[in-house]
Parts: sequence; structure tokens; C-alpha cells
Amino acid sequence: MPQVATPVDAARAQAPAPRPRKVPRIVILGGGTVGLYSARRLRKRLGRREAAIVVVDPRPYMTYQPFLPEAAAGSIDPRHIVAPHRRALKGVDVLQGKVGEIKHGDRTVQIIPEEGEPYWITYDHLVVGLGSVARTLPIPGLAEQGIGFKNVEEAIAVRNHVLDRIDVAASTWDPELRRRMLTFTFVGGGFAGVEALGEVEDMARATVRYYKQIEQSELRFVLVEGSQRILPEVSDELGGYTLEQLRKRDIEIHLSTFLNSCVDGHVVLSNGLEFDSDTIVWTAGVKANPVLQDSDLPLDKLGRVTCSATLQVVDADGAVVPDAYSAGDCAAVPDLYNPGKFCPPNAQHALRQAKRLGDNLANVLRSAEPTPYKHKNVGAVASLGMYKGVAQMFGRIKVRGFLAWVLHRTYHVFAMPTFNRKVRIMAGWTGSLLLRREVVSLGSLHDPRAEFRAASVPPKPRPAEPAAEATTSVGV
Ligand SMILES: Cc1cc2nc3c(=O)[nH]c(=O)nc-3n(C[C@H](O)[C@H](O)[C@H](O)COP(=O)(O)OP(=O)(O)OC[C@H]3O[C@@H](n4cnc5c(N)ncnc54)[C@H](O)[C@@H]3O)c2cc1C
Repeated sequence: MPQVATPVDAARAQAPAPRPRKVPRIVILGGGTVGLYSARRLRKRLGRREAAIVVVDPRPYMTYQPFLPEAAAGSIDPRHIVAPHRRALKGVDVLQGKVGEIKHGDRTVQIIPEEGEPYWITYDHLVVGLGSVARTLPIPGLAEQGIGFKNVEEAIAVRNHVLDRIDVAASTWDPELRRRMLTFTFVGGGFAGVEALGEVEDMARATVRYYKQIEQSELRFVLVEGSQRILPEVSDELGGYTLEQLRKRDIEIHLSTFLNSCVDGHVVLSNGLEFDSDTIVWTAGVKANPVLQDSDLPLDKLGRVTCSATLQVVDADGAVVPDAYSAGDCAAVPDLYNPGKFCPPNAQHALRQAKRLGDNLANVLRSAEPTPYKHKNVGAVASLGMYKGVAQMFGRIKVRGFLAWVLHRTYHVFAMPTFNRKVRIMAGWTGSLLLRREVVSLGSLHDPRAEFRAASVPPKPRPAEPAAEATTSVGV
């Protein structure tokens, strides 16, 4: 199909060819784990006269996703799990906007700002760290009723929604409505889903203690998982232990089961079970950012940018595509410890790949050889609520309960970018241990102008009052 030239394309065609830059420009797409860490590493390695670095992201901050479940549970202030770009990226230019199209052949990328017309920028070297999005399915009702759990906005919304449903349930006598309000459904039993469920359930139970109208037994948490087990990231034994612990907490878990539909909150599962639920959290996996489909970069059949172990983009024949690098959830990076496989999409790899990518790009700019990325998985740690967790370190060491929970917090607070955020998170934890966590929902956050709108509507004229009957007053 012939492409329609936009005014921007026409302007570009008429514009004189850009003069070669004195300082090469590195454009980093995405300011998440890969974007933030690779930019910091590049800035550390390259002086300002060696390279200009630009990070593009629609959000002004990087989110440390492993802390999302704790943020949803109120154990960490959500603001503390994000690293503001302007503060964390010294000596790096930040462009706030979405990447639209990538034309690597022309070394240009389209930026769509929140306001105003899209525009194009040019670059000499490209780093793609666009991450992933929720992998959804065309299930009736899911788009209208479901919510993802991939970013801090969703974590705050889930928290406020759950606390608000408890408030609504406490204020109605209608038993069906109460049941619906107090039924919380999570779909997907991987790390993100199990941690989100474990933390939110723990928070809901702690909250209900303050409500004398609601019994603990009225809270119903349901986990739906398509495979035969939960937590595929840890051993069968630890996955089985987690399952047992969650079931002991009266969490209903349906394995080898799929969500068939959830129109108007009426959940229908593939095992025949049906129930009403006002909360449906979708945590059933991720897929590479779909914006990559609008690029001329080579992609695999899962939509990920194909890379070599040096994190350079390679084509289907394995030839290096000059000046292009990628890492993290959106990249297919060979796992040198598991020949024939690719690194799984997790922060452990994304963070280390970003640093290696920064070093490799700096080396290439100085005509040195890039080094292959090689990292042996150190294990997995998961929190399942206050003082509860599971961990598997170095393949063999399995830890459960309180110790695993401490390991989870210790590992992630060290991985959290910036000293400022580490201190704030630890201070918050200390506060919660001494004063208990916050269980208030700021529901109006999602429509803060509602009250003002209502106040701005001119009052309706009051109906005319019936003429007052003459009263006789008796003078004394
Ligand atoms: C709830 C949850 C819990 C997790 N727990 C763990 C854990 O315990 N351990 C672990 O190792 N991993 C965990 N992960 C996975 C881990 O967080 C990710 O694998 C990691 O963040 C991937 O890094 P990334 O840089 O590839 O993507 P991201 O960090 O997601 O960064 C992508 C960036 O791209 C930006 N972006 C998106 N679209 C555009 C666009 N069009 N234009 C410009 N920018 C764009 C986004 O705003 C974002 O900043 C968890 C994930 C979730 C959701």
C-alpha cells in the first residue's frame, strides 16, 4: 500500500541534509530498567565531548517493578519505588514522549509528545529498552473489567480499588452486592501474580480488622492459573510449598483453568465455576512492546528485537545491524548458560544487560571489542505478604517464611536505583513496622475534579414555598 506523506514527512524531505554532528548522539528508547541503567553507565564511561545521550519515555520516572506488590499493599510509598529521570540521569537529556515509529535505516525516530504534533529526531546510535506490555487475550469483558499490574499507576489503582470495595461492602446490607465487592480475582500464577495476590490479600485482611461489619471469612481471593503449577520460576517443591501456604490462607486456587469470560464482572472459568467479582487483576504474562512492529528493526516471532550476546541487534542471518543495541524484556538475548535459550524477561537480567550494553557501546565507540553478556541466574525471591516469602538461591538453596521475606527485601532494596530511594524505602519500612501500615484508600484520586465539578453546577431554584399562613400573635 503506498504510504501517505504527512506534513512532517514533507518538511523532512525539503529540509537540507543534516550536517554531521560533532558529538555522536545516542538515543535510548525507554527510560525503564534498561534505559536508566544503560544511560548511567554510558554517561560514566563517555565524556560529554564523546557522546550526547538522550532518553525518551512518556513517563518522567523509572519504575522498579519488583516493588509494585509492596506498593499496592501499602508497605512502601508508591513514590519511593520510582526513580525520577531528571534526578537520576545527570548529564543526560530527557525527552518526555512516546516513541511512534523507528526508521533505523534513516537513523530517525518519531516522538509523540503528550501535547502537540509528533516530530522526528535523528541519532547516530540507538538503544532499544522499550520493555513489555501485558499479554492479554480476547476474553469477553476483560478489557472493560480487568486491570493490569505492570506499572505504579495500576498498583495504586488496585490498592485504592480493593480498599474502596471493602468500604462499599461495609455500607450495604445487600448480601449479593457484599459478596461481589469482597471477591477479588487474580489471573496468572507467575511471580508478578502470586506476589500481587499475596500482598494484596494480606493488606485486605489487615484492613478488615478495623471493620466490625465484615467478617474475615467474607473475603474471597481467587487465583486462576492455566498451567498445572504456580511460580514456574522456582522448583516444584517451592512452588508446591507456596501453593500450600496460600491455600492455608483460604485463597482459592484453580490450576489448569482459564478465564472464559468476565462480562460485567460475572466471572466464568473453564472448570465450570461462575461467580461475581468486582476486581479482576490480570497478571498472565507479558509480551514485547508492540511499538516495535512499527520499526525496521529485525524481530523474532514473539516480536522481540533479535540480539547477539553482545547486545548488538542482529538480523535473521546473525549479521550485526550497525549502531543498534537492545536489552531487557523487549530483546531476544541468547542465554549463554542455557544454550539454545533466551534470557527470561526479568529485572535481574535487564539490569545487568543494561550495564553490559553501556560498556559495549562505549567500547565500540572507542574501537574496542564488545564483550558477550553472560549471567548465571542467582535465583528468585518473592514476598507473599508481611513476614511471609519464598526464595530459591543458586538453584539449590531453598528458603521459606520470614527469612525468605527478609531476603526479598534485602535483595531488592539493594537493586533499587539511587541511594535516595533506598533510604526512603528503608525509612518507610521502619515506620510501618512501628506504626503499622496505612490502610486508607484515596479513592477520589482517580477523579479528583468530581467534587469541584459538582460544586460548579449552579443550584436548581428551590420550589416556591406555599404562602405562609398569617399567624396571629397575641400581645401581652
Ligand atoms: C509486578 C511485577 C513484579 C516483578 N518482580 C520481579 C522480580 O521480583 N524479580 C525480577 O527479576 N523481575 C521482576 N519483574 C520483571 C522486571 O521488572 C522486568 O523484567 C524489568 O523491569 C524489564 O526491564 P525493561 O527495561 O526491559 O522494561 P521496563 O523497566 O518496563 O522499561 C520499559 C520503559 O519503556 C517505556 N515505554 C513504553 N512504551 C514506550 C514508548 N512507546 N515510547 C517510549 N517509552 C516507552 C516505559 O514507560 C518504561 O519506562 C517484575 C515485573 C512486574 C510487573
